[in-house]
Amino acid sequence: MAHSPEQDSTDFIREIIANDLNEGVHETTVTRFPPEPNGYLHIGHAFSICLNFGLAEENKSTGGRCHLRFDDTNPSKEDIEYVESIKSDVQWLGFDWNEHLYFASNYFSFFYDCARHLISEGKAYVDLQDSETIRAQKGSITEPGVDSPYRNTSAEENLALFEKMKQGDFEEGKAVLRAKIDMTADNLNLRDPLIYRVMHSEHHQAGSEWCIYPLYDFAHPLEDAKEGITHSLCSLEFEIRRPLYNWVVENCPVASTPKQYEFARLNLNYTVLSKRKLKELVDDSLVNGWDDPRLMTLSGMRRRGYTPSAVKNYCKNIGVTKFVSLRDMAVLDFELRQDLNKTVDRKMAVLDPLKVVITNLPADHFEELQCVDNPEDENSSTRSVPLTQEIYIERDDFMETPPNKKYKRLAPGKYVRLRGGYIIGYQSHETDTEGNITQINVEYIPDTIGQNPPEGIKCKAAIHWVSATHHVEAEIRLYDRLFNEPEPDKVEGGYRACINPESLKVIKNAKLEYSLKDAPPAYACQFERIGYFISDNQDHTNDTPVFNRTIGLKDSWGK
Ligand code: ATP
Ligand code: MG
Repeated sequence: MAHSPEQDSTDFIREIIANDLNEGVHETTVTRFPPEPNGYLHIGHAFSICLNFGLAEENKSTGGRCHLRFDDTNPSKEDIEYVESIKSDVQWLGFDWNEHLYFASNYFSFFYDCARHLISEGKAYVDLQDSETIRAQKGSITEPGVDSPYRNTSAEENLALFEKMKQGDFEEGKAVLRAKIDMTADNLNLRDPLIYRVMHSEHHQAGSEWCIYPLYDFAHPLEDAKEGITHSLCSLEFEIRRPLYNWVVENCPVASTPKQYEFARLNLNYTVLSKRKLKELVDDSLVNGWDDPRLMTLSGMRRRGYTPSAVKNYCKNIGVTKFVSLRDMAVLDFELRQDLNKTVDRKMAVLDPLKVVITNLPADHFEELQCVDNPEDENSSTRSVPLTQEIYIERDDFMETPPNKKYKRLAPGKYVRLRGGYIIGYQSHETDTEGNITQINVEYIPDTIGQNPPEGIKCKAAIHWVSATHHVEAEIRLYDRLFNEPEPDKVEGGYRACINPESLKVIKNAKLEYSLKDAPPAYACQFERIGYFISDNQDHTNDTPVFNRTIGLKDSWGK
């Protein structure tokens, strides 16, 4: 039985690769991740990155490798900003292309030579008709196509016309190069597809050297062949174009024979994953840039506090298939909580503060309580948390009239434990002229740190708290899903009609425990009883702390 070397589970792609190695079709496995630098990468791209770079890692023993290749053959939509962001996203996921960084724009002469080769062989021709006419002649699934009047121009004439295209003698849309395949083919992609067009655009890598650019279906197989890619993995939409991919490889002077394999792309609910739509959200200021923590772009997810291992585990666990499905965001969130639960420290933070005065402590009381950083870790370190006479607790951890006997937090006649500290008991509370509670007075019970309450006192819960005099004031950004509907694209009026108005709530003066006073940017922790948070990687400083909510402790959407 074929099996891939260093991966426990298998899938149809890994089986193909293992077979190719076993049967000597290839000596090693070379894959590529080929983004077009026309936007930021999203979670769908992460799936493709994990697959391609993952295969290279699993096949390291035979020299397996994965190329990062910028498929930058369309200068009109591409930008160097995107090149840089894509590189850092791949690195963030923990993958390394080593010396295998390529730009399709470096192959422009090669594409050009291949095109000339096709022309010389009578397998390509320049068509001077307008695009509408060419489209009309293409026919349909029920009707064969009609030959272009340029289809039988001689190779010499075509070479001359192609040269003129290259020299800039044609305006955009006035001349195209077409592969001469079969105008009656059942597969419309084979009805003399366009392979080169005129574009008078400056290229972000190649400058103004070229004014003709190859189309994807022509360039991509050539890029793969040039780099010696063995398995060219793409999403299912490209299945119908595979015959054209093979035609290009067979008919151009290339040294290797890459093969294309298709898998089902990752679709996720409650989000949009198309670069075009993500760009609209950014350009129309519906979000704050490509790295807005509500976007499922990798830079947004990083800023939000997703971890590379959660993303990688998620991609691995859903596996590679040929079946298109809509994946549940809750599964990704589950991976994230699992990872953060194990790895990040606990801190206390009060988001909606209510003052509590411990009346039997002196005004200048200062005591350093020791709190465990991560209870999930047997060997966890501890930190000291200052206890002072005045503290803050969460407003909703006190109720003047609890709804029922099950209520365990602070209320008249009740006791509660301060996390990591003493048990306190209610004495009285104060209100302002409108009846809002402004302060609770309590007494603490000595010798109750880490101890059961004395006889006669019931204490069923521990609440988080922060010193009112020794803490950090912070801005908290409470992020939630950007869309209210699982399939934003299918909503009447489009995804704009279901943007979640609650997807960002900002709290200005939250109180964080003192140990966060020198937290660096992108510092992740759990605010006990609230959720996982991370200091913002753009706006956070120790003078102006800003923390983003990564995710709550429990799924609140799975109803
Ligand atoms: P989008 O449709 O979001 O604009 P794209 O496919 O146009 O993305 P490319 O830059 O061409 O973006 O993609 C680079 C690689 O990432 C391709 O091999 C593509 O198949 C893969 N990819 C893109 N989106 C997904 C997805 N949702 N699931 C899996 N792979 C994807
Ligand atoms: Mg694309």
